Amino acid sequence: MSTLSGNPEASLQLLLFIDRRPRSDEKIRQICDALRRLNEEYPFDLQVVDVSEQPQLAEHFKLVATPTLIKIYPEPRQTLAGSNLLAQLEAWWSRWRQSAEDDHRVRQFGQSVPLPKTSSVHQHSEILKLSDEIFRLQQESEELQAQLRFKERLIAMLAHDLRNPLTAVSIALETLELGINLGDSPSITSKLTPDMLSQVLKHARTQTKAIDRMITDILQAAHTSGSQLQIQPQRVELGKLCYDVLERMTSLLEPKHQQVKTDIPSDLPLVFADPERVGQVLANLLDNAIKYTPDGGMIEITALHRTTQKIQVSVCDNGPGIPEENRNRIFEDRYRLERDESKEGYGIGLALCQRIVKAHYGQIWVDSEPEQGSCFHFTLPVFR
Ligand code: ADP
Repeated sequence: MSTLSGNPEASLQLLLFIDRRPRSDEKIRQICDALRRLNEEYPFDLQVVDVSEQPQLAEHFKLVATPTLIKIYPEPRQTLAGSNLLAQLEAWWSRWRQSAEDDHRVRQFGQSVPLPKTSSVHQHSEILKLSDEIFRLQQESEELQAQLRFKERLIAMLAHDLRNPLTAVSIALETLELGINLGDSPSITSKLTPDMLSQVLKHARTQTKAIDRMITDILQAAHTSGSQLQIQPQRVELGKLCYDVLERMTSLLEPKHQQVKTDIPSDLPLVFADPERVGQVLANLLDNAIKYTPDGGMIEITALHRTTQKIQVSVCDNGPGIPEENRNRIFEDRYRLERDESKEGYGIGLALCQRIVKAHYGQIWVDSEPEQGSCFHFTLPVFR
């Protein structure tokens, strides 16, 4: 805010809102010239405000155009704007001056009411700026708290998930302990047949691998969600989201005469997820199912409450399927099957799905029978 004719004690106080667009230059110059002339005739206080620097002030005075001249004192406040601003100023000037002189007289002889200063407008603008900042910080803090609650819930969920394979390993160890005699003699005898022994060991190994995979996933997900993909989780009705996405895809389904079946329980618990991002995952999987399944094919969306902590969504089709050797690679960035290179696509859809699902601390994978179809599954945490 700058001062064109600073006189904070003046009885007439004006604010001029301007912008810095080149086409406004001439008009502003004319107004400033006129104001300078009037100020010689009757001194007043004028503050000039650039709207781009003080947008909150423009909002406060409900500005609809620039330049705008506002008489803020004596009251009532009066706003002059529009192409004939100068003519309006000429027309009002003598009345403004008169009211300022009357006000001055009242001040001299009457009770001394403090004169409002245009500088108070500046303070007001600062207050508005600060309250905007407080609002922004409050929102940021709410988001951070939600993220924190999300992570706490996930830790609880993961601890719960880790318990199953851990229990399985300890059962395997107990079985071994019971089955093997560790007597005083140095020879170890086993009540378990070699077949049983190898089965128990294999089971224990599979379970420890599962634990290892879970821990890797957690570490990866923590990294992904923090540094690459921001999600805004909230309570989401997954069933409704599935139907919404499906509705958006009907224009792709119809030309291929494909049928869609859904199996989504109405009592599915809410999930804690970013609805836009999960919508993207569903849309990508459905888009692939439609794209890679021949005309007249069948697509199915299923949702199930897999564990107390997780919901699993599956998008299945009866298309060409995915050969076993490619099943993990299709989730890599820019990976496409040679078979499908003639089809539209960049090979990034499934990589994005994986990043989104992992940012939710979920899993995504594919089951497939070549020539029978593919089933893409992903899990999301239940909202508590
Ligand atoms: P895009 O579809 O753009 O190529 P994606 O990352 O979505 O990229 O998929 C990677 C590859 O996985 C595809 O190129 C395709 O070969 C294969 N694929 C994905 N979904 C299916 C599906 N439902 N049926 C058969 N193959 C699929």
